[in-house]
Amino acid sequence: MRDVLVRTLAVGIVVTIVLSAAAYLTTYTRRTRETLSVLRQLVSERVERETAIFSLARDNLNVFRDAFLRLYLDDRVSVSDADFDRLYIRGDDGAVRMRRKFFDGVYDTSGHFRYGVSSFIGNNQPVDDADFRRRLVLSYRLLSQLGPGFQTRFANTHVSFPENAITLFWPDVPWGLQARADLPMNELGVIAATLQDRNPEREPVWTGLYFDDTADEWMITYEVPVDHDGRHLINPSHDVPLTDLMTRLRSGRARAGYAFLMREDGYLVARPTPPSEDQKWVGQLSFDEIGDPAIVRSYEAIRSALNDHPAALENDGTIVVDNAEDDAYLTVGRLEGPDWWFVDVYPKSEIRAAAHRAALERLGESVILLVVLMLVFFVLVRRRAARPLAQLRTAAEYLGEARFAEVAHGDVPLPRDLDNEIGLTARRFYEMSARILDANREMERVVEERTRELLTANEALRELSILDGLTGIHNRRAFDRDLSALVREAVAGTGSFGLIMIDLDQFKLFNDSHGHQEGDEALVRVSTRVAEVIRREDRVYRYGGEELAVLCPDTDLTATTATAERIVRQVSTLEVPFPESVHGVVTVSAGAAAWTGELSTPGEIVKSADTRLYAAKQAGRNRVGG
Ligand code: GH3
Ligand code: MG
Ligand code: MG
Repeated sequence: MRDVLVRTLAVGIVVTIVLSAAAYLTTYTRRTRETLSVLRQLVSERVERETAIFSLARDNLNVFRDAFLRLYLDDRVSVSDADFDRLYIRGDDGAVRMRRKFFDGVYDTSGHFRYGVSSFIGNNQPVDDADFRRRLVLSYRLLSQLGPGFQTRFANTHVSFPENAITLFWPDVPWGLQARADLPMNELGVIAATLQDRNPEREPVWTGLYFDDTADEWMITYEVPVDHDGRHLINPSHDVPLTDLMTRLRSGRARAGYAFLMREDGYLVARPTPPSEDQKWVGQLSFDEIGDPAIVRSYEAIRSALNDHPAALENDGTIVVDNAEDDAYLTVGRLEGPDWWFVDVYPKSEIRAAAHRAALERLGESVILLVVLMLVFFVLVRRRAARPLAQLRTAAEYLGEARFAEVAHGDVPLPRDLDNEIGLTARRFYEMSARILDANREMERVVEERTRELLTANEALRELSILDGLTGIHNRRAFDRDLSALVREAVAGTGSFGLIMIDLDQFKLFNDSHGHQEGDEALVRVSTRVAEVIRREDRVYRYGGEELAVLCPDTDLTATTATAERIVRQVSTLEVPFPESVHGVVTVSAGAAAWTGELSTPGEIVKSADTRLYAAKQAGRNRVGG
């Protein structure tokens, strides 16, 4: 029983472990697939959301470019020196700047309120060129018109010129009024990138990220070089604030992992760790400056994946890269515009943890199931096997002790109703006991019968042993026994009895005359007659030879003597011929005695009767002695 339970438990444990392992594997696979799908979705949405501002910048500046070219190339639009002088004035520091009122706000000739514009032309920069002046004035007109409409999403809109000049719509900051007079703007990376020798393809430029101290914002600038007839005219630009985007990299992440932004050329744009003061001025962080090997490895993994699938990130595509070294999945999307990679780093340990949890849950469920099954099994085995087997054992012990009746009568409980081998065996036990019990009873009955028969036979035998073979009357042994009993009773005072001794007269002569055979016949007839004439309670015995004895219970001497006389008479009336005798027939002589206090032993009584018998012989035979 315990063996079976232990084996079942072992099998159950193995099954549980296998189930848990299977749960682990399937959960891991499924969870990985689901997670990667969710990550792609999230990154895709995120990229779309973050890209919106860049698309808007591009659209805005295309609008600006088209509007500028229309104005610039329209002959009907004239710009006079007076127009220029109304806007600009050379300051004491030698720099030509826009007058302050255009920042503070003025009503133009059409009655529109214009504000927020400042402009700065570097120190000693000549401003005599009519075309330069035309571009400066037209740029002001457009900026003061379009700038307020762009303001909601962008910190500012500005127009830079290849001649080291810049005009800005920036209501918060009078940048053009504050810029250092000798500021070499065209040598700064931002504007230099738009110059023809630096940008021969004349592509729009997304600058790198930089921290704008004036605005206290992380910024990126989008610039559209506008040329005409091979001449570089202006660069309308937006400063795009990215602090929010960078903050979003750090906060609001309910799930594990983190994200960062990176340029295709491997420069870091933003990561969850807030940038240090130093990094603010660097703007774009190279690998050396990052000091974060995980990001370097991520970059290399993405690069190598993109080598295999060069078009993966096009058309809002995403790619999942396995960064095995850092045990993480990198989900990458591209921010159109600056062409940054948005990289989501998701630790695989999260997936494993989920798989662990699922496996543990499955393990827990399996263990509970196992325990319940074992209990059911235990109860079933107990009910259907263990208890029945114990009952069988008890029954077997009873059978061993030959206590068949208790089994056959149901005193020992047996699982006879079970419909299995145990039930079958129990029924066999029961039937066997019943049959043995029946057989025993039959045997007892036979023994009893045989015993009774034996007793009867013994009785018959015993009867035979006290009868005389010739005459059929009781023999000497019976006489001795009965006489002793009568004497014992008489001595005990509970009775008295008489004794008659009988002897056939001259029987030797009879034998001699008629032969022994006839002598025997005569003896038989005499005995039979004596038996016939005595009382029912009296009994005649062959005392020996041709001598008989009669015992008469509850009889005194007188009655005994009377019986003796009757016997003598009745024998003679048999008339067995005996011509040689004086009587002519067979006769007997008798002597009677009765128990008295003096005659207290069998021998004394016999002797007394014998004496009288002798007396009868002496007196002539065929009589009772007196
Ligand atoms: P009495 O009258 O004095 O008794 O004379 P008796 O001849 O009978 O003398 P006794 O009693 O001494 O003799 C007994 C004889 O009885 C001897 C024997 O031949 C005979 N007898 C004894 N037993 C048997 C017997 O069983 N069958 C036969 N046929 N004769 C017997
Ligand atoms: Mg005799
Ligand atoms: Mg005789």
